[in-house]
Amino acid sequence: MTQSVLPIAPEVEVIEKTFAALKSRAPQQRALSAKERIARLDALYNEVWKRRDDLKTAMWNEFRKPGEEVDLTEIFVVKSEIKAVKRGLRKWMRPKRLPGGLAQVGGASWVRPEAKGVALIISPWNYPMQLVLRPLIAAIAAGCTAMVKPSELTGETAQLVAEIVSAVFNSDEVAVVQGGVETATNLLKLPFNHIYFTGSPAVGKIVMKAASQHPCSVTLELGGKSPVIVDDLKSMRDVAKKVAWAKLSNAGQICVAPDYVLVPADREADFVAAIKGAMVEMYPGEASANKDYQRIVATHHAERISKLVDDAIARGAKCVMGGDVDVKGCYVAPTVLTNIDPNAEILEEEIFGPVLPIIPYTSFDEAVRFVNDRPTPLALYVFSKRKRFVESVLSQIQSGGASINNCVIHVSSNHLPFGGLGNSGIGSGHGEYGFTEFTHLRGVYEQRFDGAGALLMPPYAPWKTKLVDRLLRWL
Ligand code: NAD
Repeated sequence: MTQSVLPIAPEVEVIEKTFAALKSRAPQQRALSAKERIARLDALYNEVWKRRDDLKTAMWNEFRKPGEEVDLTEIFVVKSEIKAVKRGLRKWMRPKRLPGGLAQVGGASWVRPEAKGVALIISPWNYPMQLVLRPLIAAIAAGCTAMVKPSELTGETAQLVAEIVSAVFNSDEVAVVQGGVETATNLLKLPFNHIYFTGSPAVGKIVMKAASQHPCSVTLELGGKSPVIVDDLKSMRDVAKKVAWAKLSNAGQICVAPDYVLVPADREADFVAAIKGAMVEMYPGEASANKDYQRIVATHHAERISKLVDDAIARGAKCVMGGDVDVKGCYVAPTVLTNIDPNAEILEEEIFGPVLPIIPYTSFDEAVRFVNDRPTPLALYVFSKRKRFVESVLSQIQSGGASINNCVIHVSSNHLPFGGLGNSGIGSGHGEYGFTEFTHLRGVYEQRFDGAGALLMPPYAPWKTKLVDRLLRWL
């Protein structure tokens, strides 16, 4: 099963022809058994494994991603997602018998999970392989055909993904279309049956608008400002270590990275000292010379982060650590800010970089209000030893997902749903939840022997009127 890789930014005619092939194949794809779907996923993983070194080279070139992190956050994630599908797929695909009401007497009712059809998957650059393949694994598990568009900002990895996919799937099963905004815009004009978009809230709205024209269902895995709320803890060292790790991994370019930290005002100094210590411990020496410390993916993103820091400082913020930016070299040092003006842009826009604002709070209600005055975050982190504190945070602040006494970890589970709410997204991925996004739950009823339904059809003789009256009173 091989196909040739499509040219980058293909002509509209090529895209339409590819879509037509995917559409025509969709009914057969829907009929694939669990065994056939799993065989494709095994082949996909084998191909990823074969290209492991190439993937590491590509991601190092693109944003100096360390090989260990390619293994942990790209290859391992793909492997474990396939494992989860292999474990559960037969059960997920099975039709489920359900009870009926009075009108269903004499028959059987069940739900058939069925592939939606042709899926479009649009992905961002920050995890350039797994954020393409994880939804693709779910689409294949569900029995969909799929068109996939990786990010143009990580073109070297996108090319590898295209080669991997083309070595495994026929072109009428999965097609990788590389390109930028123009290509994505052309794709969004086609009548897909489901769109799985991962990216920024701003583009998510464009995707949703385009989907309304067909219309088709969407999964929007978006971003936002994920807060950390710290209780009045004895020691801030453990919190600081976990926050520093989650903030600086991938140089802060994680959709669920802690965006800012709320700490009790009288513990702010302790927290600042602890977070500085934790960051230096993780990336000793000059971060710019540390092989484990990543770069920002593109100069315009480095510039965007730099402007957020400059704006905060111009409004009186104190840069208590870092602050160095080399836009051309796509480098932003691990940076910690305090004393931030409430109107600073850094408290409005998702940072998506290694800059951590620290916000002191004087009461629990003030902390809750600070978060709830902003759009619903993708993740929420709470550090506390008090159950009631944790419960109050969870019940008073909504978010897509949450980790308690850690950051980011909930995202790596294949058992938990992963998705946002409101501005941070719609729908959920991972494991069975991903399968469900690409699946239509078709309700089916079969009449096995005639019930009393015919008695209630016109003409309505007086005895029927009485019967209806009795039924209404009895039900
Ligand atoms: P982005 O929204 O700029 O781009 C994502 C994809 O959309 C890319 O493939 C891009 O080519 C395409 N795109 C860009 N403009 C478009 C347009 N006008 N019309 C159609 N398609 C368009 O996002 P990004 O910069 O690649 O990624 C960063 C964002 O993604 C952050 O907000 C981050 O929080 C979010 N993100 C979310 C998740 C999640 O799972 N929730 C994961 C990773 C990143």
